[in-house]
Amino acid sequence: MHEVLGHASGKVPETLAGEPVDHLRETYNTLEEARAELLALFHGQDPLLLEIGALSDAAAAEESLRAYPRFALMQLRRIKQGDRIEDDHMRAAWMITQWLMRAKGVVAFVNEDGNTYARVTDLDGMRAGIAELTREIQRIKATGDYDAAKMLVDEYAIHFDPTLRDEVVARAARAGVPDFYAAVMPRMVPVVGADGVLVDVALGEPESFLDQMLRFDRAEQEWP
Ligand SMILES: [Zn+2]
Repeated sequence: MHEVLGHASGKVPETLAGEPVDHLRETYNTLEEARAELLALFHGQDPLLLEIGALSDAAAAEESLRAYPRFALMQLRRIKQGDRIEDDHMRAAWMITQWLMRAKGVVAFVNEDGNTYARVTDLDGMRAGIAELTREIQRIKATGDYDAAKMLVDEYAIHFDPTLRDEVVARAARAGVPDFYAAVMPRMVPVVGADGVLVDVALGEPESFLDQMLRFDRAEQEWP
């Protein structure tokens, strides 16, 4: 949903001179990652997902919201030094969470007995906030509003409290949470009936992580 509904959407009007990146410059990648995340979070709440069986339960949609600030907090374990986030994906998650927290008051980092927990304090407020920030970032992209882009990124995307990071690093180490992890994706094989119509999708032979990465790389090279 991040890649397809997010990155593949977001057309800008023909009246915009040049490309959005020409206007938004160093803020562009952070905002584009945030826009993709927000659209995934937004469409993840659509009841159509339950209807078509893409989600098994409405609780899964709700959990995608509750998990998001937790994910943003936990990513601090990867930044062992300093007080700045450099990666655009990480900046995007931090910006969304910090904006929902400080501009909207619908998310909070709550400290209990020395441990910080990320909490969604207002689910409907979070849904409304996601819609509002999506609109604002799309407006910034469509109009090339650099000043608004820079304000969002400087204020919400980059800086964090190193004391909080130290806590997250220590807790992640105690719990054995690695800085990064990767998964072998299931290989999906289309099953086509005698009439040439797709009838099912089967899971193919399992492959190793190395084989899968090499196959993805070959596929990319073969891309038309
Ligand atoms: Zn992305």
